[in-house]
Amino acid sequence: MKGTCRACLGSQLHPILDLGEMPLAGGFLSGPEAIAGERRFPLVIHTCDACGLVQITEPVDPDVLFQDYAFSSSTVQPLVQHFQSYASWLKERFDPRLVVEFGCNDGVLLEPLEKAGITAVGVDISQNITDMARDRGLKAIAGFFDAESARAIASEYGRADIVTGSNAFAHNDHPEAILEGARELLKPDGRLVLEMMYAGDLLDQLQWDTLYHEHLTFYSLGTISPLLSRYGFQVTHAERLPMHGGALRIVASMEANASPTAATNELDAWESGHRLNEPETWDEFGRRSLSKIRIVRDTFAALASRYSIWGYGAAGKATMWVNAAAMHYLGGMVDASPLRAGKLMPGTHTPIVFPDELKKHPPDYIFVTAWNYADLIRSKESWFEGIWSTPLPDLRFF
Ligand SMILES: [Zn+2]
Repeated sequence: MKGTCRACLGSQLHPILDLGEMPLAGGFLSGPEAIAGERRFPLVIHTCDACGLVQITEPVDPDVLFQDYAFSSSTVQPLVQHFQSYASWLKERFDPRLVVEFGCNDGVLLEPLEKAGITAVGVDISQNITDMARDRGLKAIAGFFDAESARAIASEYGRADIVTGSNAFAHNDHPEAILEGARELLKPDGRLVLEMMYAGDLLDQLQWDTLYHEHLTFYSLGTISPLLSRYGFQVTHAERLPMHGGALRIVASMEANASPTAATNELDAWESGHRLNEPETWDEFGRRSLSKIRIVRDTFAALASRYSIWGYGAAGKATMWVNAAAMHYLGGMVDASPLRAGKLMPGTHTPIVFPDELKKHPPDYIFVTAWNYADLIRSKESWFEGIWSTPLPDLRFF
């Protein structure tokens, strides 16, 4: 299989899950006139025979993926809360003067950092999203984070105490560019802090629906450590987070004598115990994922002949489910974000509507595509008397 492992540079990779031609998870269509121009791309997930890293080896051009990105973090309340607590965590643990964030989105972390008296500078490749951040008075630069942009930031603001990226590092086909940028920008005793989707949660909850074109890599402590150390960073802390249905936070230092926390050693042991970094584990994951998709596809196709069914939560997961399980029959996809409501779902072209539409036409079933937020959604729509369903970790009706 062609390709090079993003973590260990190994050349032996093999496919674990082939989802066929899929639309982009974030490729919401502005209206029926956009259907003719919609594109699909092959989506094949690989693992590395040497280190077990789960990855997409043939990425879609980032200009196609992120140029008009319709995901604004500040519209998702649990994310806003996450970034507020992340800002507090950074302040308490490191008391930084300057934090630079790559993949800053609309400034959802920059804002609480600034409120805490920390200078916060963000970089993001999406022009429309950085415009939103600047409109809120935040320091956001449109472009890639690499050695060149790091030097530009350093000359304007000085060296950084923290360089961080939350759900951005693993989306990048060239993690080395980010690591070179971080090395360039950080003070010698600075810290690189990364948050990313965690291969452990992918495995634990069978989250195949997060395997989309944007999400190039699912790191673990075991797979990211050799990558970081090639660029002079040693992992000093690792912990699991509940964000996005499960994430990994890594702290890395360029200091030679840095020793890892107890939590880091515990996670290392957990990964060994679960054989997380072994390719055979991921072969089994691929087989089980296909079986889950088949169960949802067949169950809902049978229900759709008698009952009305709507989806809830027009995030990337929704694109994955409605396409992989061929849910062309959904009456609507409910979402509170003004960036998505009024658009059409990628692939199935289901209309995305605000929650008040649901109240006007209550269906028999609501399929919660944003299943990791099911409790929150259900409490917001407590008036609904029909049947709720979530697809993962197991198909469930309640
Ligand atoms: Zn590898």
